[in-house]
Amino acid sequence: MTDFMDNRYFELFNAQKKHQYNVGNTSYNQRIKKLNALHRAIQYTYKQAIREALFADFKKPPIETNLTEIYLVVREIKHAKANLRHWMKRQKVPTPLALLGTSSYYKYEPKGVCLIMSPWNYPLNLTFSPLVSAIAAGNTIIIKPSELTPNISKVMATIVKDLFEEHEVALIEGGVEVSQELLKLPFNHIFFTGSPAVGKIVMAAASKHLTSVTLELGGKSPTIIDETASIKEAIDSLVWGKYLNNGQTCIAPDYVLIHSSKKAEFIKAYKEKVLYYYSKDASTSDSYSRVVNNKHFNRLTNYIEDAKTHGANIELGGNFDVGDNFIEPTVISNLKEEAKLLNEEIFGPILPLKTFDEIDEVITYLNNKEKPLALYIYSQSNETIEKIISNTRAGTTCINTNALQVSNHNLPFGGSNGSGIGKTHGFFGFQDFSNQRAVLRRHTKGPLNLLLPPYTKFKQKLAD
Ligand code: NAD
Repeated sequence: MTDFMDNRYFELFNAQKKHQYNVGNTSYNQRIKKLNALHRAIQYTYKQAIREALFADFKKPPIETNLTEIYLVVREIKHAKANLRHWMKRQKVPTPLALLGTSSYYKYEPKGVCLIMSPWNYPLNLTFSPLVSAIAAGNTIIIKPSELTPNISKVMATIVKDLFEEHEVALIEGGVEVSQELLKLPFNHIFFTGSPAVGKIVMAAASKHLTSVTLELGGKSPTIIDETASIKEAIDSLVWGKYLNNGQTCIAPDYVLIHSSKKAEFIKAYKEKVLYYYSKDASTSDSYSRVVNNKHFNRLTNYIEDAKTHGANIELGGNFDVGDNFIEPTVISNLKEEAKLLNEEIFGPILPLKTFDEIDEVITYLNNKEKPLALYIYSQSNETIEKIISNTRAGTTCINTNALQVSNHNLPFGGSNGSGIGKTHGFFGFQDFSNQRAVLRRHTKGPLNLLLPPYTKFKQKLAD
């Protein structure tokens, strides 16, 4: 341990380390009891406090809090409760002929002491959903939520204190310095959700102790709209997916690649839908949240300025109010390839639009970029859909909709390389917080006994 390690974290870590076998040996019923307590806390006891905290943090509409924070954690809990008995069971495997006389199984054992580091954009969901998987798998857990949403961070700290002993689950509030101190500890697993840049810092720290990692990262998630797509259907889900949480969603459609023949129809329908969803002045709409802070607001308005200097067309919006961290729903087309909007994760209410004529152009374009966390396809052509899926790489994909893949807990959720390592949700989350321990038991002598030393000529012949 280094000298500048904060002693409190070291002591907490050691307390959890000591306690890990008690937690690891908890029964199915004991784990369910913990999940039930978490369920009650977020769906009933603290529901109102959660909604108020998220509204205070970035004007998140209470309906969005219900749907994208509380509901998703409750789904995760219900799914774990329905399946945990099966997940915890020993999994018998067949025995090959050469190992006759033995039997084998593997079991999911807890990794041990785990760290969950979470971002600010869905702070409750992205902290408590991995917590559900970690509890289900029988780990002890230290949580470090984001400092950028302090109100919800406080509510989560209260919930954790209310429900758990510190040597079982503890939550530490704080910023980068706290993360950096925690990352010095030899955790058995780190589950990090956040930006690719910080993901690299986490992975480098983890490598010092050979700690395993799940990295749920971000990046640019493209949306392809081909010439066969129904624009009306595409618009319904696309406008919602783009402005949900004010575009601050890891799987938000980051930019649209649209067939040239559909561009005009798309822009017209998009404008109408924005007007319908958020009214003429979105700053007065109760359905439209804000950019989380001034730093991100400046980053985003800088993208708009950058686009203008590159001669792009502002098709919709483009105005902002610095005092309120408000940016209008914005669509920009005709961007130069070097524009920031086409190269950096946007994470805000700005949609770049890029046209194409042949689907092969799109495939080449995408394969020269990082593998995205999500790739969306709007098309009525099965041939095109299959061609895109087979010839590109992505963590997740939706066809003729977007963002919904996150709410099916039977699906693995996560990126690939630049957009993430490892998977979460349901069984996949349980698996990432577990070690698959292989166990082989010998019952009687088997054929391999014939090949024990001394290696006579006869035995050599047998082995040939
Ligand atoms: P972030 O990487 O800045 O912060 C995430 C966590 O890391 C926070 O707890 C923060 O305190 C900590 N942190 C920040 N800088 C650090 C440093 N230098 N050293 C150690 N710890 C540090 O991410 P964010 O801004 O909170 O969230 C936005 C990013 O998260 C986007 O890239 C988004 O795509 C991604 N994201 C991914 C998912 C997913 O499920 N894949 C979900 C939500 C967000």
